[in-house]
Amino acid sequence: MKAVRFHQFGGPEVLNYEDIPDPQPRKDQVLVRVKACSLNHLDLWVRQGLPGVKLPHIPGSDIVGEVLEVGEYVSGIKSGQSVIVAPMHFCGHCAKCVAGLQNQCREFTVLGNAVDGGDCELFAAPATNVIPVPDSLDFNQAASVPLVFVTAWHMLVGLAQLRPGQTVLVLGASSGVGIAAIQIAKMFHCRVITTAGNEEKLEKARTLLGADHGINHYRQKISEEVRKITNKEGVDIVVEHVGAATWEESLKCLKTAGTLVTCGATTGSSVGIDLRHLFARQLRLLGSYMGTMGELNEVLGHVFAGRLKPVVDRTFPLSEIRAAHEYLAKSQMFGKVVVNP
Ligand SMILES: [Zn+2]
Repeated sequence: MKAVRFHQFGGPEVLNYEDIPDPQPRKDQVLVRVKACSLNHLDLWVRQGLPGVKLPHIPGSDIVGEVLEVGEYVSGIKSGQSVIVAPMHFCGHCAKCVAGLQNQCREFTVLGNAVDGGDCELFAAPATNVIPVPDSLDFNQAASVPLVFVTAWHMLVGLAQLRPGQTVLVLGASSGVGIAAIQIAKMFHCRVITTAGNEEKLEKARTLLGADHGINHYRQKISEEVRKITNKEGVDIVVEHVGAATWEESLKCLKTAGTLVTCGATTGSSVGIDLRHLFARQLRLLGSYMGTMGELNEVLGHVFAGRLKPVVDRTFPLSEIRAAHEYLAKSQMFGKVVVNP
């Protein structure tokens, strides 16, 4: 099959579109013909070198395709079905996994991170990871969903315990997690303030996703605008994934006993914290990583019902993976970048 692999870490130039042997699925696996795989910022970190990534490596986390073969031990899945492959790897039998807390499994990793991903033509997936997709979604839309929607759902619903009527600040309206988090918060009848680097993105956040207020983070100071919008009170929840560039502002935006939940550090991972603010303002700081299979199924239910919408920015042929990585790195998109084998 054709696959994208890199044999050394580095820039987009290390990505090779090459021929490799077809995967040999186990009897408890399903062989999927990959139709679409969406990119995440994780792809860029993995390519640049993360601990645990073995070379050569196939990147790509969000796999959607058609079932080609069903293993002897697998039931309930038919060949020809359109499926999403849950973008996570876990052991399936430890105490955490059987409790449904797959993202706390010691073997947990994201597909395409410490294990090979889906930037290829064929993918052998454990049957437990395979979720049928209704006809209402095309392959590119479906591939835009899993990683970012399960991440945002776990952050807001699983960890921050989002409740109707709260005010939520979502950083990065045009990012995958931002697009998911804004829609989830609106579905819970919350007031949503979001940020972006230009007016066009802020307008899309309002009209496409339902955000109530937009802040241009190049022209306005986030904490000052949030103070104005909330009548000096601050927000209940901040959805962070930007990191060093926004950390201090994010903390300033919280009301007393507010919650900051973070799943990323795109602009840098070292930040400071004044402990006096942490305890005196009774802040809650939560670290979030992906989500559980239960949460993925829950959020997919809302997507399949049309209450949450995937947003595809642009597609590339898999053979143009270097251009796709370069495009993602520029952060000019609104929505997901998808590659098609
Ligand atoms: Zn486990």
